[in-house]
Amino acid sequence: MATASFDTARREARPVSPIEKAPEVTALATVPGRKRSLVGLTRADLKQALIDIGVAERETRMRVSQLWHWIYVRGAREFAEMTNVGKVLKAQLADAYTLERPEVVSEQVSRDGTRKWLLRMAPTGAHDHNRGAEIECVYIPGDDRGTLCVSSQVGCTLTCSFCHTGTQRLVRNLSTAEIVSQLVVARDALGDFAGQMPSKDGGGEVGRLVTNIVFMGMGEPLYNLDAVIDAVSVMSDQEGLALSRRRITVSTSGVVPQIERLGLEANAMLAISLHAVRDDLRDELVPLNRKYPIAQLLDACRNYPGVSNARRITFEYVMLKGVNDSDADARALVRLLKGIPAKINLIPFNPWPGSKYECSDWERIDRFSEIVFNAGYASPVRTPRGRDILAACGQLKSETEKMRARARMLMEEGLGAEGFYAGGED
Ligand code: SF4
Repeated sequence: MATASFDTARREARPVSPIEKAPEVTALATVPGRKRSLVGLTRADLKQALIDIGVAERETRMRVSQLWHWIYVRGAREFAEMTNVGKVLKAQLADAYTLERPEVVSEQVSRDGTRKWLLRMAPTGAHDHNRGAEIECVYIPGDDRGTLCVSSQVGCTLTCSFCHTGTQRLVRNLSTAEIVSQLVVARDALGDFAGQMPSKDGGGEVGRLVTNIVFMGMGEPLYNLDAVIDAVSVMSDQEGLALSRRRITVSTSGVVPQIERLGLEANAMLAISLHAVRDDLRDELVPLNRKYPIAQLLDACRNYPGVSNARRITFEYVMLKGVNDSDADARALVRLLKGIPAKINLIPFNPWPGSKYECSDWERIDRFSEIVFNAGYASPVRTPRGRDILAACGQLKSETEKMRARARMLMEEGLGAEGFYAGGED
């Protein structure tokens, strides 16, 4: 009891940073006079789009299947390509809709094959400065997988102290279509649609270069859960983009009340940005912890629908010198995770301008990893990828200042590995 009151007093005495910044979410609207793209839509939205142009309800099931195949299996860019769709309907579709993707503002390719795209979404109004929100998505090829890191929001309301993106305001949530479109753009660029030649530098199987998705780009996915659930459903539809849900990982900073719903409705793999083993420290690193402390978060993990040794939860742990990297921290981590099928990603931190943290020494990281490993957990130390394409990032950053993606920060700061390697089960 005495300890508890001491902790409370200490927590109250500390200067408190805000848990969340005020969001500036603006409802997503279509700019008048602009045709809507069908790319990224769910089956239900495609059906509605067909009804809106006068297709009879009884025909919609078959028509949705045709569109679904052309958009998500073939990667069609023109309605004219749809050889099994009648001339009249093709003309109606082309009249009302497009198959446009987000604009690729820039693409950078690293020597190690990592690719980074700056994407501009279709404009949705004044809050986008009438030119469309910009986000980044990153593709990381590996020996046995190709992982795409996608964003779920433009900006982030949370204020994690080690995260550069946390210093930016939230512009808005991304729609389901905008989330799915990131995968479509990646498949375009990699030649990863049926009938296309795979690019030389992609990883994974031929024709399946993107094998894994991680929701580790900009934003907190569980604050945009409806869109994320629908996006996972489109991405994992076996008649379309056909990714396995076991290879789709959603990472959260700990929005406890939404975790169960993510498991029940998206059935995706879960990753937790943990980073600390004590509430006082996690309150500082991930301020959302003040709302949902570690014990509650780990309870939600224990009860995550479908969690098992075959579907382990990934815990991300950024290594901060003298902050969270002691032997005692490592042992406490092992104790905390007892009973949770888990793997732990240790992420070396690279300071960014203005950040108050330093990366732990390599010997320290090794020692930490060894303690966790000896306790029976996989504890790989993640090396950042795509370092050689970072120089130009600084330029991109100034151009797209307020909308820069967490993915860029992740790569710049070496943090990014957390998402990139949390890519679901093999
Ligand atoms: S770590 Fe994630 S949740 Fe925290 S501020 Fe950065 S983007 Fe937002």
